[in-house]
Amino acid sequence: MKMCAQDIEFTLIRGDRKTADIVIERSGDVIVRAPNEIDDGRVRQAVADRALWVHRSLAEWESLNSSRRTRPIAQGQGFAYLGRSYRLRFVDSAKAPLTLKNGRWELCEKFAADAGEAGARKAFRDFYMEKGRKIFGERVAHFAPKVGVSAGEIAVKELGYHWASCGTGGALNFHWKTLMAPQTVIDYIVVHELCHLRYRDHSDAFWNEVDKVLPNFRQRKNWLREKGASLDI
Ligand SMILES: [Zn+2]
Repeated sequence: MKMCAQDIEFTLIRGDRKTADIVIERSGDVIVRAPNEIDDGRVRQAVADRALWVHRSLAEWESLNSSRRTRPIAQGQGFAYLGRSYRLRFVDSAKAPLTLKNGRWELCEKFAADAGEAGARKAFRDFYMEKGRKIFGERVAHFAPKVGVSAGEIAVKELGYHWASCGTGGALNFHWKTLMAPQTVIDYIVVHELCHLRYRDHSDAFWNEVDKVLPNFRQRKNWLREKGASLDI
């Protein structure tokens, strides 16, 4: 439900929970989660009480997202993979439309001419998804026993403004864009999602669990917050 308090437009999601919680999503939307039994007036009051924080966070979101841009598919343009930027080179003939070889992206010129800009971007997404299935499979297998959970199916796909999500039966989904982040940040995303298999919320108990497995997770979490908007092709 869309609501407003103190010039702050937000989406209210009620649920079976004890406390209210306000977050700024990566899309810039303000989401308020509140217990079922709290009435609208108290929800608005809770948002009004934190208006200063919300306005400050929204201003910060604006500045972090000013760096968001799409990169032209052009010779010499850098595209990231696992935290490093590699330059793009067009090649005459290639077995696959796009490969990462000898420290360069190699895009088949004929493919690029036929498929166009949209097709070339899809080739990047396909590359990240294919590598991602292997990498996330390995990292989930590595960290699941440390968290004490067993994960279900793992998928790498387009998740809009979410880096990851978990579904029924321990299924884990990861955004293909995370493959542009350093491995340490990918590990944080994996541990974060595995801990959600034990705690569905972002309670203290949840963060304690993350901390137990990755004691330096805050640095990685900050990296994602600061650089996340730049993870794009
Ligand atoms: Zn989470």
